[in-house]
Amino acid sequence: RTLPSPGLEAEKYRVLKEAFGFEAFRPGQERVIDALLAGRDVLAVMPTGAGKSLCYQVPALVMGGLAIVISPLIALMQDQVAGLLLDGVQAEAIHSAKTREENVASWRRVASGEAKLLYLAPERLMTGRMLSALSRLPVSLIAIDEAHCISQWGHSFRAEYLALGNAHEALPRARLVALTATADETTQADILQKLFSGRAEKFVAGFDRPNISIAVQDKRDVGQAIESYVKARPGMSGVVYRLSRKKVDETTARLQAAGVKALAYHAGMDAGDRATAQEAFLAEPGVVMVATVAFGMGIDKSDVRFVLHGDAPGSLEAYYQEIGRAGRDGEPAEALMFYGLEDIRTRRRFIDEEDSAPERKRMEAQRLDALVGFCETTACRRQTLLSYFGETSGPCGNCDTCLDPPEVIDGTEEARLLLQLIAATGERFGAAHIVALAVGHLSETVEARGHSSLPGFGNGADRPAAEWRAIIRQLVSAGAVAVEAGAYGGLTITSRGARVLEGVDRITIAKPKPKSRERRRMAAE
Ligand code: ADP
Ligand code: ZN
Repeated sequence: RTLPSPGLEAEKYRVLKEAFGFEAFRPGQERVIDALLAGRDVLAVMPTGAGKSLCYQVPALVMGGLAIVISPLIALMQDQVAGLLLDGVQAEAIHSAKTREENVASWRRVASGEAKLLYLAPERLMTGRMLSALSRLPVSLIAIDEAHCISQWGHSFRAEYLALGNAHEALPRARLVALTATADETTQADILQKLFSGRAEKFVAGFDRPNISIAVQDKRDVGQAIESYVKARPGMSGVVYRLSRKKVDETTARLQAAGVKALAYHAGMDAGDRATAQEAFLAEPGVVMVATVAFGMGIDKSDVRFVLHGDAPGSLEAYYQEIGRAGRDGEPAEALMFYGLEDIRTRRRFIDEEDSAPERKRMEAQRLDALVGFCETTACRRQTLLSYFGETSGPCGNCDTCLDPPEVIDGTEEARLLLQLIAATGERFGAAHIVALAVGHLSETVEARGHSSLPGFGNGADRPAAEWRAIIRQLVSAGAVAVEAGAYGGLTITSRGARVLEGVDRITIAKPKPKSRERRRMAAE
């Protein structure tokens, strides 16, 4: 696989983050983008919702010049242009639902170089006038969306698409990318032939990596948990992701003291040390890389046996990308994430403190909700993850919830106790304090605030604190409780929470398990 030049490579990530506000590419996106940036033509088959648009939008901005996007539906064009303008990317559409004057104005912005992307219906592009006008502009990329429409084999053949077969000839300097969500092998071959005369790279992104087992666990004494996990896998290569440089250093020291061949990797180290660590990881067997997300880009090591998240990742996109570094040889590999409320709080704070538009913050908050939903799901984890990327699948049989299905019980009473305590303390305190109140623990804060006299104090003493923490997380995931971004991660009651408190809404929770599989296994070892 040829990679784009280092300059384009860096630019690609900058555009992803600055123009679109995303932290990581989704599965499949990067390969398509890399191929285009390296000068090749691409046919990409990816499920709906996978993020096909970004596959040409990022190269469009990285390459410069004008990108033409062919789309069969006016509504789709309008959505896309509106979305790009929101992101501050100049885009135009020329189509029959606009007045002549509007189209002329759009064309002017295209011709002046102001617009970076131009959306067109297929029949518009292939007119003699349009082609000759475009041939005087620096067209760098032609993206053909819903490319299956060119094939009579496909389920929605459109005669207007047939003419696109000459697009390459008409604008020979432009790279060509065709995208579709629905093309079986016959249709794919047909698209390749008609649009590319057979000369293009084909990427079919199924997102599943069935050899990677997936598990999420409650985060308790994470230093110890990481140490036990890694020690139980002697001689295996693995990556341990931690959120901060400080945690990376602490974890590395702890693992080294325990006799593990652990190396640190983060952006605070000097380039030489980083390169040495990376080379050792690639060359020597059994090295465990303890790293921030700075590690991994472009790392191609086939026999990584586990990816451990000591802290929750930034999003499901980041998570997928990070666990995807395990098991590239197809042999069994493991992905385990430790996750707790403090992770959500930290992530909320990141979003809050970031200097970005409210619209973007809302999107990031939604992505965080999706991550929390994944962590708290009682359904198959892989199914949950893949469906986030638009791929439908059945239960996988290789994740913690499949192997040890959580029982779901009515948790309304438990929820109401917690909600009462949150309300009674003014929706200011974090999970630790609320849990202390539930179990009747006389902590310093409880004493100082005189909270032991609150109604409900100690009413949950029959459950261990860990179970109450798990229930709080599920309330967050169910949208009944929100975690504030502030330093204390104060819990507040949402409108759904209020309905539960009033007894109009019920809450189901996973029946707490005495011990997770992993801990049982570790205890047995
Ligand atoms: P498709 O055309 O494949 O159906 P879209 O291009 O419409 O998918 O993208 C689906 C959604 O995924 C959009 O909301 C988009 O913003 C989001 N998305 C795409 N790429 C990323 C990414 N790398 N990180 C986060 N969200 C992404
Ligand atoms: Zn599963």
